[in-house]
Amino acid sequence: MTVPSNPDPSGKSDADVSRETWKATDNYETPIGAAAERAMQVLHTVAGQLPRPRSRRVLTVANQKGGVGKTTTAVNMAAALAVQGIKTLVIDLDPQGNASTALGIADRRSGTPSSYEVLLGEIPLQAAIQQSPHSTRLFCVPATIDLAGAEIELVSMVARENRLRTALAALDDSDFDYVFIDCPPSLGLLTINALVAAPEVLIPIQCEYYALEGVSQLMNNIEMVRAHLNPRLSVSTVILTMYDGRTKLADQVANEVRRYFGDKVLGTVIPRSVKVSEAPGYSMTIIDYDPGSRGAMSYLDASKELAQRANPA
Ligand code: ATP
Ligand code: MG
Repeated sequence: MTVPSNPDPSGKSDADVSRETWKATDNYETPIGAAAERAMQVLHTVAGQLPRPRSRRVLTVANQKGGVGKTTTAVNMAAALAVQGIKTLVIDLDPQGNASTALGIADRRSGTPSSYEVLLGEIPLQAAIQQSPHSTRLFCVPATIDLAGAEIELVSMVARENRLRTALAALDDSDFDYVFIDCPPSLGLLTINALVAAPEVLIPIQCEYYALEGVSQLMNNIEMVRAHLNPRLSVSTVILTMYDGRTKLADQVANEVRRYFGDKVLGTVIPRSVKVSEAPGYSMTIIDYDPGSRGAMSYLDASKELAQRANPA
């Protein structure tokens, strides 16, 4: 498992790193002033600035490689859409519960209505939804430690791969415009449930050595789920994370990923940023923790790209 530096051991600040997004989108001379200005602009934008999808978009955030930015991408994309007027739900399907924590869901004790009870069919999805304290448009189905047993418990159950899809189908289509499903770093039954429940896969890829390692296995699994369980499934979006503009390696990886996935890769790249890694420690997304930071702006840009891309559904 890749263990990312947290905090950044290089000791360099946000302003030193990750210039690709900056160069691509900004002409400002003073990054800090520009950042504040951009944050003000975005946060004061009236609701409805982004195009709403024709129908609900459900994206499974998957990569069996650990620590590549799945959870960070799920919660920050969701928060970025929410701040721009779009009602968004994050389903935490990882027993680690990191998405729930980042979204400010305080009560994650065993027994709290969560994705576990939903998968087991004990409660409807609606009954497990909690509002994030940071936004009236951001919601979460939390994960508790109970979910750790679900992989085993599901094995003997009827329609074990379809449980999340069935639960989501009961949710009114007008309830949410976007649903992000945060997966654990494995290709077990939890991830399969997520792949069966969504038409779109969002793959975060860390700009590091061996970035594409395991991706062909992930693609094989996606293909198997598509062939046997969910014919609508496709990889709609790839996002490059933890990009460090100081290194040649980051550019090499970015180019390699763009060659492999073509225009599925968002133009916006998420920089490696200490602020991004600090935010969950305060039970916040980067959008709430520091809306003027590079990390927040890049997720805001990425969410705009996602919303403006044609809805493949
Ligand atoms: P897992 O496979 O364990 O679920 P993951 O793929 O969900 O991991 P994250 O938890 O999102 O990955 O990120 C791994 C670590 O990297 C976390 O400590 C997170 O705070 C940090 N991190 C994620 N994105 C960035 C970034 N852009 N800059 C700096 N640190 C980051
Ligand atoms: Mg995670």
